[in-house]
Amino acid sequence: MIKHINTRAACETLDANDPLAPLRAQFALPPGVVYLDGNSLGARPKAALQRAQKVIEEEWGNDLIRSWNKAGWFDLPARLGNKLAPLIGAGDNEVVITDSTSINLFKMLAAALQMQASQPDSATRKVIVTERDNFPTDIYMAQGLAEWLDRGYRIRLVDSPQELSSAVNAETAVLMLTHVNYRSGHLHDMQAVTAAAQAHGALVLWDLAHSAGALPIDLHAANADFAVGCTYKYMNGGPGAPAFAWIAPRHHAQFRQPLSGWWGHRAPFTMQPDFAPTDGIRRALCGTQPIVSLAMVESGLDIFAQTDMQALRTKSLALTDLFIALVESRCAGQQLTLVTPRDHAQRGSHVSFAHAHGYGIMRALIARGVIGDYREPQVMRFGFTPLYTRFIDVWDAVESLRQILVDTDYEISAQQEAVT
Ligand SMILES: *Cc1c(COP(=O)(O)O)cnc(C)c1O
Repeated sequence: MIKHINTRAACETLDANDPLAPLRAQFALPPGVVYLDGNSLGARPKAALQRAQKVIEEEWGNDLIRSWNKAGWFDLPARLGNKLAPLIGAGDNEVVITDSTSINLFKMLAAALQMQASQPDSATRKVIVTERDNFPTDIYMAQGLAEWLDRGYRIRLVDSPQELSSAVNAETAVLMLTHVNYRSGHLHDMQAVTAAAQAHGALVLWDLAHSAGALPIDLHAANADFAVGCTYKYMNGGPGAPAFAWIAPRHHAQFRQPLSGWWGHRAPFTMQPDFAPTDGIRRALCGTQPIVSLAMVESGLDIFAQTDMQALRTKSLALTDLFIALVESRCAGQQLTLVTPRDHAQRGSHVSFAHAHGYGIMRALIARGVIGDYREPQVMRFGFTPLYTRFIDVWDAVESLRQILVDTDYEISAQQEAVT
């Protein structure tokens, strides 16, 4: 169906028939902007402004410290975790929203290595496997942890998803993967990859940064061990909003992480000098949370409650199919290379095209109000957020891209900004 769309009017018809179209009205999007970067920073739910007003004026301003109890600030990481849980196939009391993805990776990885260290084969199980192409902070956190532990842990970087099956073996302590690759948009088969790694005795840690809120995830069905992810991307929690962490319930009792702050203590207000971990998922907590930022996450999650991930996935694939088809037909001969898999089973919710002048072209697009982003080397990324992206946005973005390419209306050696 999507293949035969070749006019803006046809895109308008797709929008008119889109059951999710009304949800867009719940976001504050600036006029004249085609926003294709919700995979990096989600748009603002309109409700977030009222929530911010309430948390700042009433809860902080008026109720002051009483809000830890009265407004439920102390329970917020767990309460919002329960709200997020259904989006990733998790249950109640299995998710907390806290800290950053990088820090949660550190905690989960450290706990997983410690669990493996208590196994009889621990002396030979010293490898953390991940992809060379993983988002760098994931690799950096593993490197930092391995170096700091100084117990002979090594990081093995695999060069392609196909290489995983041969790279994971009896020496693998943890397989740490990102579900959807941040650059290519490649999607792993979570269930198959997890099962294959666990068959070798490895624990599997999933980073859901680019998949949570973008497509259906079922951590229980996949029998995953640990997961982390961002709330400021597809979840629309706001810039720097705290991340989430999930631990399979079968590991709760054994789970120990080294950032053993008082929020993970069994009875923090008894002020005991010895750390005693609390039960369950709260073990993943460390210390006081940025409440104003954390509170914003709820406005994003509330919108998901009005739809379901299957409906979002259907629209997401229609949007990315349309974008690929239109770029390939309308920008034919313009030296663009599709980086993202065509196979639905291997595609997330963003599409990347490489071009020798990708950075300059993306700057030119942004100058025209089409906001995507750029990742080295040469990759232009376009994120499609089914909650608010319209089919006409896809059309308009491709038309801007076509004009820029046809007119060579971009700087060949555009100076890169600090954030690309
Ligand atoms: C966005 C992203 C992060 C971001 O980590 P922060 O700690 O929030 O800066 C980490 N990992 C992956 C895979 C990401 O896509």
